[in-house]
Amino acid sequence: MLTYSYLSPGKAGFCEKEKPEIIQSGDAVVRVTLSSICTSDLHIIHGSVPRAIAGVTLGHEAVGVVEQIGGGVKGVAVGDRVAVNVETFCGECFFCRHGWVNNCTDKDGGWALGCRIDGMQAPFVRVPHADTGLTKIPAGVTDRQALFVGDILATGYWAADISEIGSGDNVLVLGGGPTGVCCALCADIMGANVVLCEKNRGRGEFLRKNFPSLKVVSPEEAEKICAAFPHGGADRVIEAAGGEDTFQTAWKLARPNAIVTVVAMYDKPQTLPLPDMYGKNLTFKTGGVDGNKCGEILSLIAQGKLDTAPLITHTFSFDELDKAYKLFSSRADGVMKVAVEY
Ligand SMILES: [Zn+2]
Ligand SMILES: [Zn+2]
Repeated sequence: MLTYSYLSPGKAGFCEKEKPEIIQSGDAVVRVTLSSICTSDLHIIHGSVPRAIAGVTLGHEAVGVVEQIGGGVKGVAVGDRVAVNVETFCGECFFCRHGWVNNCTDKDGGWALGCRIDGMQAPFVRVPHADTGLTKIPAGVTDRQALFVGDILATGYWAADISEIGSGDNVLVLGGGPTGVCCALCADIMGANVVLCEKNRGRGEFLRKNFPSLKVVSPEEAEKICAAFPHGGADRVIEAAGGEDTFQTAWKLARPNAIVTVVAMYDKPQTLPLPDMYGKNLTFKTGGVDGNKCGEILSLIAQGKLDTAPLITHTFSFDELDKAYKLFSSRADGVMKVAVEY
């Protein structure tokens, strides 16, 4: 079968491979029906993900249909429509038992798909630990609605969850990219008063039109709004922008004793100016997602409370992946997320 693979630093492309088979009893083989491209795929291609293995099939966001299961798989059956989780995890180690599945110590634990083992930019994928790595999609939820459940939506849900949001909390989300939108939507359904800050005017307009439940503002407006909050800043800040100075903005716009959750992946090290923030008594939490709430997320989608399908601005067929990557990395034509059909 044809796959889209990371070939060497700076290079990705189509590459012929054998169709995957069951290797361990906990494996499933999934026929991919829709996949996407994530910024992390670009990081791999640029050579900035040291654990990524050259030759690996890219892709860690997809939905599909279970084609084959190993003898130990109990949670899904052949023919089930499933969302594939970016993280595969054993469910039994110290970290998994605490829900910290990103740090699962199994050899296929954490983010393996599309990084260390072949991923979903291919017609078929082998998913280890299928009982934890696959979630059945409820009837009535479309592939496009479920596409982001295993990665950016899992991240948004996790970020809102660890931010310990209470009803009525003023939550500032920095960055209106796909992950920031997921964070904002999840904080919204947790009962927060959400302000989503996006500096790109075109993107801001897109968000206001497609996600009318969100209050989308410019950085200047965000500063004024946060200063006017009752206790001098946001109760919670989720930093999903990853810009030059957005980490500084994140803690500055937080009120004393706030929680600041950092989801963004930075290109460069950041400064933690402890003398400047002394007395503000902030709590910082940092990511990689623990993607173990996909069932809850799918149920919220099924109830009509969450819909990220409008993030899909462009749709390509599998054989157009070169074109899809070019568009996604150039950020041209207002692209937010692409969907790739098989
Ligand atoms: Zn990703
Ligand atoms: Zn584990």
